[in-house]
Amino acid sequence: MNKNSTNIMALAPKSSNKRDTVCIFGTGDFGRALGHKLIQSGYPVVFGSRSTQTSSLIPKGAEVMSHAEAAQKAAIIFIAIQRQHYNFLTSLAEILHGKVLVDISNNSKINEYPESNAEYLAQLVPGAKVVKAFNTVSAWALQSGTLDASRQVFVCGDDMAAKQLVMDIVRILGLTPLDQGSLLAAREIENYPLQLFPMWKFPILLSLGLTTFFFFYCLALDVIYPYVYQKKDFSFFIAITIPNKICPILALILLGLVYLPGVLAAIIQLYRGTKYRRFPDWLDKWMLCRKQLGLVALAFASVHVLYTLVIPIRSYVRWRTSDRIISQIQNNRTEPLNTTNAWLSDSYLALGILGFFLFVLLGITSLPSVSNNVNWREFRFVQSKLGYLTLILCTAHTLVYGGKWFLVPSSYKWYLPPVYMFSLIIPCSVLVVKFVLIFPCLDKPLTRIRQGWERNPQYSEQSNYIINKSAV
Ligand code: NAP
Repeated sequence: MNKNSTNIMALAPKSSNKRDTVCIFGTGDFGRALGHKLIQSGYPVVFGSRSTQTSSLIPKGAEVMSHAEAAQKAAIIFIAIQRQHYNFLTSLAEILHGKVLVDISNNSKINEYPESNAEYLAQLVPGAKVVKAFNTVSAWALQSGTLDASRQVFVCGDDMAAKQLVMDIVRILGLTPLDQGSLLAAREIENYPLQLFPMWKFPILLSLGLTTFFFFYCLALDVIYPYVYQKKDFSFFIAITIPNKICPILALILLGLVYLPGVLAAIIQLYRGTKYRRFPDWLDKWMLCRKQLGLVALAFASVHVLYTLVIPIRSYVRWRTSDRIISQIQNNRTEPLNTTNAWLSDSYLALGILGFFLFVLLGITSLPSVSNNVNWREFRFVQSKLGYLTLILCTAHTLVYGGKWFLVPSSYKWYLPPVYMFSLIIPCSVLVVKFVLIFPCLDKPLTRIRQGWERNPQYSEQSNYIINKSAV
C-alpha cells in the first residue's frame, strides 16, 4: 500500500465522530454550500482560494487559505470552480499528486467540449485520482436542505478506492450515491442537468399537435357547421363536448403508438432476417419513449373518464332528456325499449370500464417502485400481453361507440368523416399486423431471429452492425 492510498483510507468514515479534513477549491456558491453541509456533518473544512481573507459568507468553522496550503491539509479536494479556470491546477500538480479530486462542474451546453470536464481535469493533473460527483445537486438545495429532486448523486471514476471514498461522503451528507462506472461516464453525467424531460419531448409535442388539429376539426363540425346551416349556437360545446371527444381519441392514438414501433421492429427483423442490425434512429428513439407515450395516453383517458362522469348533470343533457319526454307526451307516443341499443350501450360502457382498468394497471406497473419488484418475464407479461388486451378493449369500446354511424351519410358533414374514426386507424392497423404476426409461419422465424438466429450470418461479422434490443 503506498502513501497516497494510506491517505485515502484515513478518510474513510470511522466509527468515532471524528472525521478527516476535506478541502474545497473555490469559495463561490457551490463551494460555500458544500462546505456548510460538510461542516454540519462533522467534517473539518478548508477552502483553497485566490483570496485568503475570510468573509461573513464563508461557513463558520471553515478556514480559508491559498490553494497550495489547503491542498496539503486534505486527501480529498472538491474543485468548486468553473472548467475554464482549471488551468492554474497544473502548477499544483506536485501537491495534488495522489489526491482525490472531485470534479463537480457543469457546462452551459450539451457536449460543449470534446472531452468531459472530469477527463480534462484528469489530463491536467495526471497524478491525481479524479472522481465525478455532485454536479446534479444544486448549491441552493444543499444549503437549504430541500434536496428532494437532487438526493441522487451520480458518481464515476477510474480509481475504485477514491470513488468509494466519495460515495461514503455522499452517504454521510444524507444523499444517495449512484455508481455510474468509470470516468468515461462523466460526459453523460455532465449532460444530465442540461436535459429537460428528454423522453417526454416527443410525446408532449405530438399530443399538443394532435390536440390542436382535433380541436379545430371538432370546432368546424360541431360548432361552425350547425351555426352555418341551422343557425344554432353550440359554442358551449367547447367546454365539455369537444374536450371529451379529443381526450379519448388521443388516448387511443397514443396507446396505438406505444405498440406500433414493436410491430414495425418485428417486420424489419423479419425482412432483414437478423436482430444484429441497428434499427433506424427514429425507431430507436420512438421505442425509448414508449413509456412516456403510454403515460400521456393514460392521462388523456383519465380526463375522459372525469368528463364522462359529469355528463348527467350537464344542463344541455338534462334539457335534451326533458325535451324528448315532453315531445313524446305532446305526440302521445311512447318509445319501446330497444334491446339492441341497450346491449350496444352497455357493451360500450363495459368495454370502456375494463379498458380503463387495465390501462391504470399498465400505468401502475410502469412506476419504478413497482417495476423493480417484478422480474423481466412478469414485466413483459403486463406490458405486452395485458397491454395488447388494453388496446383491444379500448379499440372495441370506440368501435361499438361508433356503431354504424360511419354508414350514415349525415355523419359526413362537409364530406369529412366523424372525428372518432381517426382514432381507430392506428390501433386497428397495429392489431391487424400483430394478429398476422402471430401466425406460426411468421412467429416461428421471428422467435428464432430474436434468439440470435440469422438468415444471412455475414451481418454479425460486419463491424457496423450492432446488437439491438428485441422489441417487446
Ligand atoms: P461561482 O459562484 O462563480 O464560484 C466559482 C469560484 O471559482 C469563485 O468563487 C472563485 O473562488 C473560483 N474562481 C473563479 N475564477 C477563478 C480563477 N480564474 N482561478 C481560480 N479560481 C477561480 O460558481 P459556483 O456556482 O460555485 O460553481 C462552481 C462549480 O460548481 C462550477 O463548475 C459549476 O458548474 C458547479 N456546480 C454548481 C452548482 C450550483 O448550483 N451553483 C451546482 C452543481 C455544480 P475564489 O474566489 O475563492 O478563488
